[in-house]
Amino acid sequence: MKIHGKGEKEWHTEYPILKNMMDTKEVCWINPHYASFEEAIQSKDLTKEDVKEASERLVRFAPYLAKVFPETAKQGGIIESPLVSIKGMKEELEKTYNVSIEGEFLLKCDSHLAVSGSIKARGGIYEVLKHAEDIAVKHGFLTYEDDYSILAEDRFKQLFSRYSIAVGSTGNLGLSIGIMSAQLGFNVYVHMSQDAKEWKKNLLRQKGVNVIEYASDYSFAVEEGRKQAERDPNMYFVDDENSKDLFFGYAVAAERLKKQLDEKGIVVSKESPLFVYLPCGVGGGPGGVAFGLKLIFEDNVHCFFAEPTESPCMLLGMMTGLHEKVSVFDFGIHNQTDADGLAVPRPSGFVGRTMEKLLSGIYTVKDQVLYRLLKQLADTEGIYLEPSALAGVYGPVTIRQSKSGEAYFAQHLTKQATHIAWATGGSMVPKEIMNEYYRKGEEG
Ligand SMILES: *Cc1c(COP(=O)(O)O)cnc(C)c1O
Repeated sequence: MKIHGKGEKEWHTEYPILKNMMDTKEVCWINPHYASFEEAIQSKDLTKEDVKEASERLVRFAPYLAKVFPETAKQGGIIESPLVSIKGMKEELEKTYNVSIEGEFLLKCDSHLAVSGSIKARGGIYEVLKHAEDIAVKHGFLTYEDDYSILAEDRFKQLFSRYSIAVGSTGNLGLSIGIMSAQLGFNVYVHMSQDAKEWKKNLLRQKGVNVIEYASDYSFAVEEGRKQAERDPNMYFVDDENSKDLFFGYAVAAERLKKQLDEKGIVVSKESPLFVYLPCGVGGGPGGVAFGLKLIFEDNVHCFFAEPTESPCMLLGMMTGLHEKVSVFDFGIHNQTDADGLAVPRPSGFVGRTMEKLLSGIYTVKDQVLYRLLKQLADTEGIYLEPSALAGVYGPVTIRQSKSGEAYFAQHLTKQATHIAWATGGSMVPKEIMNEYYRKGEEG
């Protein structure tokens, strides 16, 4: 039987790690197309200017966000997460895996972002705000020079109530789009895959969001959302697979991180490079953040994506060059993972192509490892993350355990390096569910 025109043997000869991927074993792939920043960025039509524009838009909206989400007021309406040292966890990992992690180990706590408690509070909220701005300006309700806190007035809610927003999600994107859209006054439809947790759906319903459930996967839910929006000219579809706005919203994280590193006195240079480990689902979140980081730190930042062994869609797409044309199902991989934020069978082709020469590599993680890391991080640092978000924490140890990963480290990693695991979600998980996760971490 042929898969995408090739026999199984041919596939295995061309891509030796594919066998382990199909057996859902952990793998580490170092990107053979990784290139110097100068070469990699050529022919990309996404620029620093685009990211700057997104950043400025978020500044315009800050007075509004400070007003409607008071928890953001102390940061002036800028939704940003802490960057913290996780020394205790680093020692714990070194002991457990019998490796040494050279340099500092930090956690970027998007798990604790205000409003929606995950990395989706970046791209998702940004895209909804941009759409609201477009409508308000078009109708003469708003100019770019206004104090945007006026958007909290009733007349804006009435204006936005004539419009709808739709999105497909495994949970967290739905939370972020749903909460922000409902707050502005839009009608909002969240198409949820079977992976979505019950508490996320309930929370959205409480906020007046229309939740549509499917007994199918994320790619299917996205398609349904897309179809619904095509039928209604006043409905806007947030396209997690292709949206540049989402991508730029995520990319703004980079300049904010740079500022946090500066404040900590951490220099990023060839002698003290930055290694960043990002959990990846369809790719928009980690792709946007990594792209933003490459624009700022160029060759001195090395970005890795992390995926569940059950849903290695971006790895499959980038390794084979098939991108959105390939699904994990094509290779008999089942997409059954407790890392619900990463349970995506088919990657974003837009992100895969954009990151083709910029991404250093991708590794995969077993669910049971995620639970173990969850418990270890809770025990050593008192920080509780959802399973998906632990995938990044595994980076500095697991890359070292593969031959190609070790070679990459040997080439680029120095004693002064800084490792950052991107903690993508967790603070909104109800306590009893978190306790259950923690118990699973005790099992082995
Ligand atoms: C969505 C999500 C990711 C990955 O983002 P993508 O844009 O889907 O790649 C990672 N972690 C969590 C917790 C998420 O919700």
